[in-house]
Amino acid sequence: MPPITVVGSINRDLVLTVEDLPRPGETVLARGFVEGVGGKGANQAVAAARLGSRVRMVARVGPDADAILRALAAEGVDVGAVRPAPESTTGIASVVVDRAGENTIVVNPGANAELSVADLPQRLARSAGEVVLVQHEISAEVVAAAVLRAREQGGTVVLNPAPARPVAPEVLAAVDVLVPNLGELATLLGAEPPAGPDGARELLELAALPCRAVVVTLGADGALVKQPGRPAVHLPAPVVDAVDTVGAGDTFCGALADSLARGADLLAAAERAVRAASLAVTGLGAQSAMPSAAQLDAAAG
Ligand code: ADP
Repeated sequence: MPPITVVGSINRDLVLTVEDLPRPGETVLARGFVEGVGGKGANQAVAAARLGSRVRMVARVGPDADAILRALAAEGVDVGAVRPAPESTTGIASVVVDRAGENTIVVNPGANAELSVADLPQRLARSAGEVVLVQHEISAEVVAAAVLRAREQGGTVVLNPAPARPVAPEVLAAVDVLVPNLGELATLLGAEPPAGPDGARELLELAALPCRAVVVTLGADGALVKQPGRPAVHLPAPVVDAVDTVGAGDTFCGALADSLARGADLLAAAERAVRAASLAVTGLGAQSAMPSAAQLDAAAG
């Protein structure tokens, strides 16, 4: 099975749980606090590794990241291509989650902003079909270079355009599978965020995105898969008791990459990703509730 390369962010996550999210100017006391490894890149790498994929990360961290790199290595993620940024600090995400599982997040990119095109390995996709997974917590220039290089080398390029920002058409054209949520889809198309599966379906049918396929994540509504020449397919999510949706999209992307790397077709990969992400929202923290392959198979009954 070919490995997966993740080009993206690594953060220190500071997660505070509160009754109600503070309003502007308000101070509230937290009910609990956990510190962990996060960042969309690291989360997606761990999600894929838990499901059994061989994963390497391309990223930058500050000199304060020893424990974080050990934690990633303990998850089976190859951190050999994670380079130090001696003048910077590791990215930090301050996450506040309320009792309903709603959250606000402030990110200081730190060393993630130092990741440059020169840090990208010459070979991103080392064999045809190797999955290269990229997100938006690094510079647009590095995203573009990684996507174009991976495509040129015959890789399967998965772009999760989160956080939302526009993507150049020539970059989108080199993407095999684009995985936005509703807000990110709206940003890419310069439209209002669609309401639910039907709105997303209409939007995708109106707008021709130049990437090969689009998988829109819909929160509790699951996902919508649009492949060229075929009608969009809605994959509902299992009904779960959602505790914390931080990292849901990351679990989805990591699981999707894991299945694609195993040669699954896109619909089957997205169906498994929906189930993996719905399990991940039942626990607190981005990585702690990401399922193993055994847990995912057991939940399928
Ligand atoms: P993001 O976290 O990037 O905004 P979404 O909110 O769309 O992404 O969630 C990604 C995936 O997580 C969904 O496709 C779904 O599988 C799962 N998910 C998210 N929220 C829920 C929920 N409340 N119940 C069940 N599954 C959920």
